[in-house]
Amino acid sequence: MAPLIGVTATLKEDLDTVAERPLGRYVRADFDYVDGVAEAGGVPIVLPPVAGSEAAETIAGSLDGLLLSGGSDLDPSYYGEAPIPELNVTVPERDAFEIELLKHVLRRGIPVFGICRGLQVLNVALGGTLYQDLSSQMDGIVLLGHRQETPKWEPKHEVEVDAGSQIAGIMGLRELKVNSYHHQAVKDLAPGLVTVAHSPDGVVEAAEYWDLSECWILGVQWHAEAMRSTGAEHRNLFAAHVEAAQRHALRRAAA
Ligand code: MN
Repeated sequence: MAPLIGVTATLKEDLDTVAERPLGRYVRADFDYVDGVAEAGGVPIVLPPVAGSEAAETIAGSLDGLLLSGGSDLDPSYYGEAPIPELNVTVPERDAFEIELLKHVLRRGIPVFGICRGLQVLNVALGGTLYQDLSSQMDGIVLLGHRQETPKWEPKHEVEVDAGSQIAGIMGLRELKVNSYHHQAVKDLAPGLVTVAHSPDGVVEAAEYWDLSECWILGVQWHAEAMRSTGAEHRNLFAAHVEAAQRHALRRAAA
């Protein structure tokens, strides 16, 4: 059986500006995540942000792997900070669901792959912090633009991957160019995670658990899902995650 990979989604509200109330509420996920998982041999299942610990635990119990997708800013109260004026819109239902879901997923040792916001949520769930707004809070250096007007699959800046890191082995290279459209970034890294890739201005572009064979947790700041057609290194990330989920499913079945 192919492993079942949960893909987180957001809650999108269409507002009726005349009636000033939601016209409709929708579950929304970029299909690139779904395709990325399916191409790698996993069975993707899109997860709506539902309320409650019991729902999160039930969902976690059914998954072999979790892909945390990109999206809006994370509420800084999850890492003990008050919001600064530069914080963008947050989606409270999504924040609460993903943090709660991760609690159960991590306890079960389910392999987690985080992309963009996904890396940030992962870092916070494990005890790390974020830059609420990269351009106003990360000072002392000249930031590269971590935003782009060009199509989302086009590279924006370089990334250097640490020698000896597990992600270097997965991607099969140590230097690459990635797309970049993120407002936030990892500040203090969570215990257990290791920073394994940087952009030239020092922004954390990837982090992984210190031993992926013990617990497969990996996140990238760039949108790997949108770059799958540009290079095998991006597809390899999805493949490694699905393989880890497959191993987890086999271990679970044997237990
Ligand atoms: Mn970037």
